[in-house]
Amino acid sequence: MKSKPVTLATRLTLWYTAASTLLFLLVASIVYYVIAAVLTQQVDDDLEEDIEDFDNIYITQGIETLWSSLLQEATEDGANQILFRLYSNEGVLINSSDRTVWNDLPPMPGLADYFTQESDAVLSSVHLDGHEHPARMIYAVIGDGNTRIILQVVESLEEREDLLEMFRLSIVLALPLLIFLSFAAGWFMVRRSLYGVEEVTNTAIDISNGALSERVTPGDRGEEIERLSGTFNSMLDKIQALIRGMREMNDNIAHDLKSPLARIRGIAETTLTGDQNQEQYHDLAANTIEECDRLLHLINTMLDLAETEAGLGSTMTLINLTALVREACELYQPLATDHGINLDCSHDAADVSITGNRQFLQRLIGNMLDNAIKYTEPEGVVSISQQIENQDVLIKIADTGQGISHDELPNIFERFYRCDSSRTKPGTGLGLSLALAIAKAHFGNIKVESNPKQGSLFTVSFPLASSVHSRQDLGSKY
Ligand code: ADP
Repeated sequence: MKSKPVTLATRLTLWYTAASTLLFLLVASIVYYVIAAVLTQQVDDDLEEDIEDFDNIYITQGIETLWSSLLQEATEDGANQILFRLYSNEGVLINSSDRTVWNDLPPMPGLADYFTQESDAVLSSVHLDGHEHPARMIYAVIGDGNTRIILQVVESLEEREDLLEMFRLSIVLALPLLIFLSFAAGWFMVRRSLYGVEEVTNTAIDISNGALSERVTPGDRGEEIERLSGTFNSMLDKIQALIRGMREMNDNIAHDLKSPLARIRGIAETTLTGDQNQEQYHDLAANTIEECDRLLHLINTMLDLAETEAGLGSTMTLINLTALVREACELYQPLATDHGINLDCSHDAADVSITGNRQFLQRLIGNMLDNAIKYTEPEGVVSISQQIENQDVLIKIADTGQGISHDELPNIFERFYRCDSSRTKPGTGLGLSLALAIAKAHFGNIKVESNPKQGSLFTVSFPLASSVHSRQDLGSKY
């Protein structure tokens, strides 16, 4: 069976405890070694000071007074704490304080040489068998001229060792307390910081149980958690809007499929039940084909929309946009003429190329021209022009048609949306949604300005990027 994973809170707390324990041990070790070094230095300073004092006594008051001063200090400190020895200039022992506990002390090699060279005092540490604590030892020459002798002082480091022992003991005793406290502090901090994550998780659980309108409430849980909950909330808003959009689209599709299907069924029923002549049967078949075409057009537009929104990346090539618009103009000229509309496509713009999908770009321009012609009364004018502005190429489609009311203007790019005034004209309400999706798939956009009864101006923009062939001739018409 798979074991339960360790929670992030436990992991972080253990890491925190381990890190603070290690840090504590590191700091304690540094302090320990500094204290040990300072204490040794203190003993050395004392020994050197003693040598200086006894040197003065020897020079000013002679060897007898020196010896009695040494004995007095040895008695005061204790024979097991300090040892004094005097050596002649040939390295022969002259006198020694009580050395019962210092018998193992090794003699200093080359003592006589040391005397001849008159070196500075020599300090060293000694570890004697049977002695619990180490000792510090100094040899130095005292006196002057012919009276020079060697003084050896050995001092036990018991006091220093006791102090260090106490320090070690306090660290060992403090360690469990420190581990406990850092674990408790770590646990508290981690729980506090992960509280926000838990809130997000709980909301996610509620949502997966169906409460789609639930949101994480904003608070003061730290910038990272607030960003996470903000992103989570906005993601939920988008998902909810998407679901709403899909529901609306389903309704619209169902509605738009229902009418032509009902009509086709009506035609079929009439064909079956009625007693029609040849010409009437012909008309009924033609009507069925027309309704089927309308249905196919609707379904194809929806498929194109889905394809465009999925991205046209791999189908893009370098396209001469100017030529493409010119061709579209020529294609729509007969339709405009049929509607009694003057389609103005001057052909003098410099060529501009963009990276794009030819078929979909043709569809975009076609939809815009088709709308302009469809919603403009006979005798009206529709024009298309190319312009370069900053880093964009703009295709402007203007008409002198019925225009769009200011209330309806924000909705015209929504799927299946049709303005009230346009319901008498054929259409699906998908043309502009597809045009905008195509523009966006080419990293472009469509903007519209319109005044009812005066006309509309649609501006399609594409970024020029590096695919521009020419940037001259601003504002020219096709
Ligand atoms: P439709 O199939 O109805 O033309 P579109 O998505 O192409 O659908 O357009 C949505 C609505 O925007 C249209 O129903 C129409 O009311 C309005 N519209 C689009 N282009 C124009 C235009 N050039 N002039 C006036 N109204 C327009």
